[in-house]
Amino acid sequence: MNIETIHTKVCIVGAGPSGAATSIFLSREKVAHIIIDAAQYPRDKVCGDGLDLKAITMLNHIDKSILEDELKPRGKIQACWGFRLINPKGKYTEFVFKPSIGDENKPPYGVSKRFSLDNILVEKFDSAFADFLQETKAIKIERVENKWHILVQQKDKQITIISDLIVGADGDHSIVLKTVGERKINREHYAGGVRQYWQGVEGIHDKNLMEVYYPKTFPMSYFWIFPLGDGLANVGYGMLSSVAAKNNYNIREIFTELIKTDSILQSRFANATALDNVSGWGLPLATLRRKCSGNGWLLVGDAASMISPTTGEGVGTGMQTGFIAAKFIKQATEINKFDESIFKNYDREVYKRMEDDIKLFNLSMWVSPKMMGWVMNNIVPFNYFKRLFQTKVGQWLNTAYHKEIKVKLD
Ligand SMILES: Cc1cc2nc3c(=O)[nH]c(=O)nc-3n(C[C@H](O)[C@H](O)[C@H](O)COP(=O)(O)OP(=O)(O)OC[C@H]3O[C@@H](n4cnc5c(N)ncnc54)[C@H](O)[C@@H]3O)c2cc1C
Repeated sequence: MNIETIHTKVCIVGAGPSGAATSIFLSREKVAHIIIDAAQYPRDKVCGDGLDLKAITMLNHIDKSILEDELKPRGKIQACWGFRLINPKGKYTEFVFKPSIGDENKPPYGVSKRFSLDNILVEKFDSAFADFLQETKAIKIERVENKWHILVQQKDKQITIISDLIVGADGDHSIVLKTVGERKINREHYAGGVRQYWQGVEGIHDKNLMEVYYPKTFPMSYFWIFPLGDGLANVGYGMLSSVAAKNNYNIREIFTELIKTDSILQSRFANATALDNVSGWGLPLATLRRKCSGNGWLLVGDAASMISPTTGEGVGTGMQTGFIAAKFIKQATEINKFDESIFKNYDREVYKRMEDDIKLFNLSMWVSPKMMGWVMNNIVPFNYFKRLFQTKVGQWLNTAYHKEIKVKLD
């Protein structure tokens, strides 16, 4: 068979938030590249759809007007003004951020169906620099004389992309990771999660608070209700895989059972309707400290195991790795060198932004689940924490909306 060949300096595999951000920021650096995705956009991805401050920050880096455009006129992103923690005893603690006058379109959090969000991002691709190939799946990757030969399947056609650099942005089941490293699941650094869309969940806060509930019977797990507006919500449940394996828990069954029988949730779901089946997917956590760069390769997002271990959020951290990767790739293309030495500081730049999260998670693992329950019941509800939240979020928002992240290459 005659296989078509395409040459490029940079090939990004995967156009989810991490790959999309890499492409958008590379185009800003005027670096020509190919980005491929096995799917046709728009496409769904199992997720809680929650946008944390990191995600909001990166969306602002992509386009200062993205939130304003997508919040009201198109309604693709739902503004959330804080969160509600529901402790194991069922007590609500609400952290509501009150914006200053004029900042009503600058929420600290958001919820957006991945079907919409990921499409918003690929619509931002700059065709002057990015050649986006959809329905194009990498099926075999080989290293041949300092180049990557990426064999891709495009419907009934095969193409070989020959590239100096490969960026693995292909998520948790990354073929790039399988080529350059090892994708063996380490349950201490991995979680399982399920999601289902529901209509009519009662008691959603009028400021669209993102809700997290810690069920008493299942420590080291959490149940979420993330509001999407008009009575629609992304509802889900996640648990550390080591805990699930040790106790032989089935996350999907527990999720369904909690909705039906948990005394805190039952009344909220009594008149609600599930809109689809329960879908599940894995969450590779940043505590694994996976090596993210090497000779001619970089990993971003889930492929790099970059999900926040404390919140389970990976959209913002994934886009952040894309932003950082683009700076290193620009340098590499300028001097036409793609060996490991060029990327040696990439891991440092990535992990220094994850360090606090990793430390907090390690501390929570050290504290016993009973102690955690006590902290949730007795310490978190104090007004002091609510006031601290208001002040801290105000400071973070200033960064999220007005400052650019600085990456150190040397
Ligand atoms: C149940 C659950 C709930 C979650 N909730 C949240 C949340 O509320 N907020 C949050 O921030 N994060 C959440 N996460 C994590 C978040 O979903 C991921 O961190 C995020 O999707 C990572 O983005 P990514 O671009 O790295 O990978 P992905 O979004 O997985 O994108 C990878 C892309 O690569 C493509 N691809 C894969 N293989 C190939 C191939 N061989 N060739 C070509 N293309 C390929 C895929 O089609 C896909 O489009 C959740 C995860 C789960 C499982």
